[in-house]
Amino acid sequence: MSEVFNVEEIFAKNVFTIGKMKQRLPRNVYKEVKKVMDQGGELSLAAADVVAKAMKDWAVENGATHYTHWFQPLTGITAEKHDSFVTHPDEEGKMLMEFSGKELIKGEPDASSFPSGGLRATFEARGYTAWDITSPAFLKEAATGVILCIPTAFCSYTGEALDKKTPLLRSMEAISEQAVRIVRLFGNTEATKVVASVGPEQEYFLVDKDKYLQRPDLIFAGRTLFGAPAPKGQEMEDHYFGVIRERIGAYMKDLNEELWKLGVSAKTQHNEVAPAQHEMAPIYETANIAVDHNQIVMETMKRVAVRHDMRCLLHEKPFAGVNGSGKHNNWSLGTDNGVNLLDPGDTPNENIQFLLVLACIMKAVDTHADLLRQSASDVGNDHRLGANEAPPAIISMFLGEQLEDVVKQLVETGIASSCKEGGVLETGVSTLPNFEKDATDRNRTSPFAFTGNKFEFRMVGSADSIASPNTILNAIVAEAFCEAADVLEKADNFELAVHDLIKEYMTKHQRIIFNGDGYSDEWVLEAERRGLPNIKSMVEAVETLTTDKAVKLFEKFHIFTKAELESREEVLYETYAKTINIEALTMIDMASKQIIPAVVKYTKSLADTVIAVKEAGADASVQAGLLAGVSAKLAETKAALGKLQEAEDKANAMGEGRAQAFVYKDEVKAAMDALRAPVDELEMLVDKEVWPYPTYADLMFEV
Ligand code: ADP
Ligand code: MG
Repeated sequence: MSEVFNVEEIFAKNVFTIGKMKQRLPRNVYKEVKKVMDQGGELSLAAADVVAKAMKDWAVENGATHYTHWFQPLTGITAEKHDSFVTHPDEEGKMLMEFSGKELIKGEPDASSFPSGGLRATFEARGYTAWDITSPAFLKEAATGVILCIPTAFCSYTGEALDKKTPLLRSMEAISEQAVRIVRLFGNTEATKVVASVGPEQEYFLVDKDKYLQRPDLIFAGRTLFGAPAPKGQEMEDHYFGVIRERIGAYMKDLNEELWKLGVSAKTQHNEVAPAQHEMAPIYETANIAVDHNQIVMETMKRVAVRHDMRCLLHEKPFAGVNGSGKHNNWSLGTDNGVNLLDPGDTPNENIQFLLVLACIMKAVDTHADLLRQSASDVGNDHRLGANEAPPAIISMFLGEQLEDVVKQLVETGIASSCKEGGVLETGVSTLPNFEKDATDRNRTSPFAFTGNKFEFRMVGSADSIASPNTILNAIVAEAFCEAADVLEKADNFELAVHDLIKEYMTKHQRIIFNGDGYSDEWVLEAERRGLPNIKSMVEAVETLTTDKAVKLFEKFHIFTKAELESREEVLYETYAKTINIEALTMIDMASKQIIPAVVKYTKSLADTVIAVKEAGADASVQAGLLAGVSAKLAETKAALGKLQEAEDKANAMGEGRAQAFVYKDEVKAAMDALRAPVDELEMLVDKEVWPYPTYADLMFEV
């Protein structure tokens, strides 16, 4: 057994928690910090100086040499530039480590190389990072030493958001303000804010390092671009929740320890559906912290894998033919006096506040289904959504039997007089207890499912930041709350007005409810009949960001300006084009430098064999047949490679933007698929000894 650790002791050891601030800061400064955290506003420079010193002292005591403003540019990953605490030595050559309040609250990385979608010309590249005081600073223990990381938002000189964090924080303020209006209507005078909480379930694959390093596609693209299926896939359903193998178990133990030290409350772990696939879910927390923590989780997963001579694949579809990875984004709204707005209670039909909240969410999701879909799109997720393993690309809501029935009653009669109860689940074994059943079963195929006291948005990709989905959720629901509050605050008879509004919203937006099988072909047709959008790919989703409806929403709640939205569109098109470009170049490289030469050698040895066997006077028809088959596929491969090169040249020669992204999607990707097909067939024909790469079986079953 390796060393035992005490979880309570190590939890948040590397975080400058509010508790540590309380201990280390003078009372008045601590109170000022707490006030800004809870109510917003700005920290005085004097207070910031004191906080900075305390933070630095704590960090240095724990071995830190540098600090960094840790931020989340539009690349989807995090960025950091380290500065040491070292200052100019005094006359006697002695140096004191320092860190000022100014350095804590504001940074100016030379950030001209981050994608900004035209918001900043390179000659005026100023970008600022500003401390997000609500997300605690933490220590990262890396090969570079211990680094104090200060979570920040990243904005341009003129205040435009250049990151994923700023709009998220803006959306959290918007939903809080509007949701408080709603709870006030129901007599809650105590709540001062409403917090969006998020719990993201993170799926991932682990593969062996040595095998990974033999696959340029995994190295450059994070997914296999070639690969015939293994004889066994996931059809036996023996991996999901299966016994965790020793090597993976050791990894999970290490991962948990690292995450706990960083204050991430890693909670569940299990094997997922595909071979070599696993999942970790933390306990939910405030949206911006959950977003930061999810970035930490992804980074830590990769770092710990290296330590175990493995590599962690976060790509949405590392392997064709088996499940890919997603990130279920569990989301709810709670007041600061402890009320979960999404908790229906035992009798939802009598819980008017809940029904209004539900009606507003139905309205929000139906009105802005396109935006939600967009928020979950990234290049890798195009392989999953609608591919019968993940939710379809169509947004719909699952409410479960109990709520669906309540909505139905309200829509049909205006009154919900009854509600279905869960009842008792009888186990039929006298020594086992009978359970109180939940009133609702689960539906795994729905992209947006009500799960008891939260919604689970299941479309999000495993490699993607969860900032955008939560920004959109907050924004669209804030709008619906605002419109409802505008009506209800003016109503003479509140009871009547709220009743009418719930009925109106539910009736108008009931088309978004779907409780059936989201993977079925019938649903695609049914959704079309209902007029629900079915946006099939990332590039097709991009322009949902700048429809009149979207611009109006985002500007009204100060979440994005039109210029920010347009810049994001540009970044998305560029990201798409660049990603497919890398994949195409990698395929061209692999096919021309390794696959074709290997097959050519193999055909030579087959040809030699045919001649030798014939000379020896035996029947060489099997060898000759094999040679003919392999040669035919080789010719197909060579032709497909030429076509891919042509498509790639065409796309590459175009200017960046929408048109180029579409050529990558429609022509380059199609040519990539056409090249993959004969190569995967060749892999099945050619001697394994000759094949230049570890196979799917090697990668997925021998970790
Ligand atoms: P399952 O896989 O069964 O859906 P998991 O336990 O893997 O469930 O993950 C559920 C996630 O939902 C966890 O991160 C959990 O903390 C989170 N969660 C639970 N309640 C809420 C809530 N009220 N708001 C947001 N997230 C929640
Ligand atoms: Mg789970």
